[in-house]
Amino acid sequence: MIHLENVSKVYPNGTKALNGISLDINDGEFVFIVGPSGAGKSTFLKVLICEERASSGTVSVNGFDLMDIKKRKIPYLRRTMGIVFQDFRLIDKMNVFDNAAFAMRVIGAPEKDIRSRVNEVLALVGLEGKEKSRPSELSGGEQQRVSLARALVNKPGMLIADEPTGNIDPEMSFEIMKMLTDINKSGTTVIIVTHEHDLVKQFGGRVIWIEDGAVLHDAVIEPDESLNSDDAADDGAAESNDADKKEADAQ
Ligand code: ADP
Repeated sequence: MIHLENVSKVYPNGTKALNGISLDINDGEFVFIVGPSGAGKSTFLKVLICEERASSGTVSVNGFDLMDIKKRKIPYLRRTMGIVFQDFRLIDKMNVFDNAAFAMRVIGAPEKDIRSRVNEVLALVGLEGKEKSRPSELSGGEQQRVSLARALVNKPGMLIADEPTGNIDPEMSFEIMKMLTDINKSGTTVIIVTHEHDLVKQFGGRVIWIEDGAVLHDAVIEPDESLNSDDAADDGAAESNDADKKEADAQ
């Protein structure tokens, strides 16, 4: 659960990145954060994960008061969330299994539990058989799936993704989005920053539009079924059948 009240953020150089944001995100929601470049989306996420501190207002995330949180408590806040970055942030010295296991090793989980949970999340993201590969041996989409597995390994109640489809091709972007919606259906709150409006329209959800550091618009949109890739492929097939038929008729 996230509660923000009149939150502003002024960077040390005087840039006002957030300007009086008030909103709640309840457990189990599926939320897109959209808006033009420089609007304050990344700053908003950084405030939620306490990578940056708000300058004024109230910020409460998963029971932590982020205006008051001590530095040594921040890792405990982060354990309540999984974080997926646009540039994956995987460790290339480690194989896929060890990258996904990382957050469990940090909290000292028993190796037996690590083995079963990591195998479970790697299966969830469709990476069985890739356990021993290095991130650099994988495609962008596969690397993003490793980072998704790593974010999910400790079963967080909330998943935060910053442009998760920014560095992968459209087909894989669809797959990643599909996985994020499935993860949400199993009860996890999902918050995604994106500039890909087609994906937002296709999947639907709560859309929070940020501009000039403020919430311009906040509404739930229904998924646009006509953008579903399978339907689009079917339409294409139907069109070419029509074309074949016309050609046959003309002969
Ligand atoms: P977005 O993610 O929507 O592109 P950002 O949150 O990155 O927007 O940036 C919002 C504003 O804050 C921009 O004007 C940006 O230049 C500025 N900004 C971001 N990070 C810093 C920083 N560390 N120091 C100073 N200004 C920053």
